[in-house]
Amino acid sequence: GDRSDTLLQTDGLIKQFGGFTATDEPGFAVEEGELRCLIGPNGAGKSTLLKLITGTHEPTAGSIYYDGDDITDLPPHERVKRGISMKFQVPSVYGDLTVRENAQLPIQRLVTGDDRNRRIEETIAAAGLEGYEDVPASDLSHGQQQQLEIGMAASLQPDLLLLDEPVAGLSVEERRGIADRVTALNEERGIAFVVIEHDTDFVAEIADAVTVLHRGDVFREGSISEIEADPEVRRIYLGE
Ligand code: ADP
Ligand code: MG
Repeated sequence: GDRSDTLLQTDGLIKQFGGFTATDEPGFAVEEGELRCLIGPNGAGKSTLLKLITGTHEPTAGSIYYDGDDITDLPPHERVKRGISMKFQVPSVYGDLTVRENAQLPIQRLVTGDDRNRRIEETIAAAGLEGYEDVPASDLSHGQQQQLEIGMAASLQPDLLLLDEPVAGLSVEERRGIADRVTALNEERGIAFVVIEHDTDFVAEIADAVTVLHRGDVFREGSISEIEADPEVRRIYLGE
């Protein structure tokens, strides 16, 4: 899309840990409704960038704009209200609770009455877990648990959903389940995504666009085929 379709934009964003610069003015942008994958070597600053966007981390300097507003000083829950939702690297479903009980957690204090049941059903559908409503989450496969988490993150009706390594450690079949969930939410609900992922087959299957992060800065942007063909990208993965 054109510049007026920009959903998220960072400007001069810096995050330092002690003397170390993890985020170094990447000029990162996400368009409305786009499915962008964020790749780059270990330690490139991918997770840090997402945590700056959610407000988990405070930047050392710089700004984050969302939907035209400067959100840099907003606390995380205010960003959630504005439409930014994240599924973290660490799983957060409750194994003792059923799929339905887990599905109602994100909305339980926000939505009441008849709307609540409709939203719970929507969450289960978004997770692709129809028929598993009464199954304890601990009895789901690892892939199904990830699907449940994605459905739960989507239940807050975000415009932007951030996923940190959603298919790490999953089988090929389980990855397909996650890819189906992500593309369905993107296409049917128009949710924009930033997905951190290493697996190039998975990235090729889902991504509209790819950003390569290196040393906290944007190194390359393009389609997955452009990125895969780029010798400089290979070089940074090999550690120079
Ligand atoms: P990636 O997700 O791309 O692997 P991270 O964003 O997790 O990279 O980390 C980027 C760099 O910042 C790494 O060198 C990491 O050690 C450092 N870092 C990340 N979080 C912290 C923290 N809380 N304290 C100190 N250093 C951190
Ligand atoms: Mg990471």
